[in-house]
Amino acid sequence: MSTLFSRLQRKDAAHHLHPFTDSGDLAKRGTRIISSADGVYLTDGEGRRLLDGMAGLWCVNIGYGRQELADAAAKQFLQLPYYNSFFQCTTQPAIELSEMLGELAPADLNHVFFTGSGSEANDTVVRIVRHYWASLGHENKNVIISRHNAYHGSTMAGASLGGMKPMHKQGGLPIPDIVHIDQPYWFGEGRDEDPAEYGIRIARQLEDKINELGVKRVAAFIAEPVQGAGGVIVPPDSYWPEIQRICDAYDILLISDEVITGFGRIGHWFGADYYGTRPDLMPIAKGLSSGYLPIGGVIISDRVADVLKEKGGEFYHGYTYSGHPVCAAVALANLHILQDENIIEYVRNDIGPYLQDQWRTLGDHPLVGEVRGVGMLAALELAEERNPIKLFEDPSSVGNLARDFAIDNGLVMRAVGSKLIVSPPLIMQKQHVDELVQKARATLDDVATRVL
Ligand SMILES: *Cc1c(COP(=O)(O)O)cnc(C)c1O
Repeated sequence: MSTLFSRLQRKDAAHHLHPFTDSGDLAKRGTRIISSADGVYLTDGEGRRLLDGMAGLWCVNIGYGRQELADAAAKQFLQLPYYNSFFQCTTQPAIELSEMLGELAPADLNHVFFTGSGSEANDTVVRIVRHYWASLGHENKNVIISRHNAYHGSTMAGASLGGMKPMHKQGGLPIPDIVHIDQPYWFGEGRDEDPAEYGIRIARQLEDKINELGVKRVAAFIAEPVQGAGGVIVPPDSYWPEIQRICDAYDILLISDEVITGFGRIGHWFGADYYGTRPDLMPIAKGLSSGYLPIGGVIISDRVADVLKEKGGEFYHGYTYSGHPVCAAVALANLHILQDENIIEYVRNDIGPYLQDQWRTLGDHPLVGEVRGVGMLAALELAEERNPIKLFEDPSSVGNLARDFAIDNGLVMRAVGSKLIVSPPLIMQKQHVDELVQKARATLDDVATRVL
């Protein structure tokens, strides 16, 4: 077993370049090979069991090993493994999935453009938004306002919409006509202020930016309801109503990036339902298929779709795998499980509140500066001193130390700087949450012995 394991590690180092990885560093440390999974547990190549606090990468919402998804894929593979949606064609799973998404999505979001991923969904968003305004005769209304430290994917447009400086640096991004305002990160950037006032002040940067550029130039605002990859940043309650007011007042499109917050993650079908916003476009992926197969899309309002249909002409955009029938069949099976097993309600009323209560007990630990979360998303901020807060000089090294100790303790948890974050499968039971929190506490104790 371990010889196969080390052989695979050597081959991996020789041939496989990993996403978001320092390849030189990884080759020295060796990869962790995950070989199987069941429910909320992973098994690695050395046979160790790990509690998956990240649901893969924010996506395995229904947990691992569901027979129904394997059956749906096998059936569709044999009946029709592939056909495209170009040239007046489509397939039954793609049709049924678009109908179901239209029913689940809020208000008048009744149309879907399929993609292979969340990044492709956001590239599609840029194309649709600019084409929409151009079709109405507003050729110059093409600026999209986003936020610093947002994550919207890794393609050229996705990374441009995102607000991660190190990503922009590699590749000359952002592309033209994408600008960024501040994120609503109260603990990191506003903790001397009243949170409600801070939320309003940061939201009004959108209004200031629109006025600075001129509303004739501004097409849309894009944001994650709760920032995920940026560190599970939950905005103050005052933030989203003010953003919605500004989008309405200036008549710019609101794009709610639901790639993480969609499909039950925060106890509703979509983050827009939780915050009561009225988006015009919603990029989706991840939990759409619980990560079993790659599929994403953009859910689009009647307002936008009607203009595209009546005035847009041919939309010169699409992917070979848009509406892939096997991926769509698996996504359908996944949505039926979420629906039939009342998993959204379970997150909202039961396991979500339980996770939040238990996670907050970590707030008494000497290393913890803040605990926060919503639904099945949670984060804690490591701090060197608590009163007043003093943050670590090198946040990434303490975060990475914690992440490595967590693995030693049998828990997959992610570190973003000195933020530790979890986004577990939605089907966790209370005993799994207890195990998660107990292992997180053991990890904090381990880190404390090294840094305090
Ligand atoms: C993961 C993510 C994306 C990108 O999705 P991919 O499938 O990795 O391309 C986009 N937006 C948000 C909010 C995400 O979390």
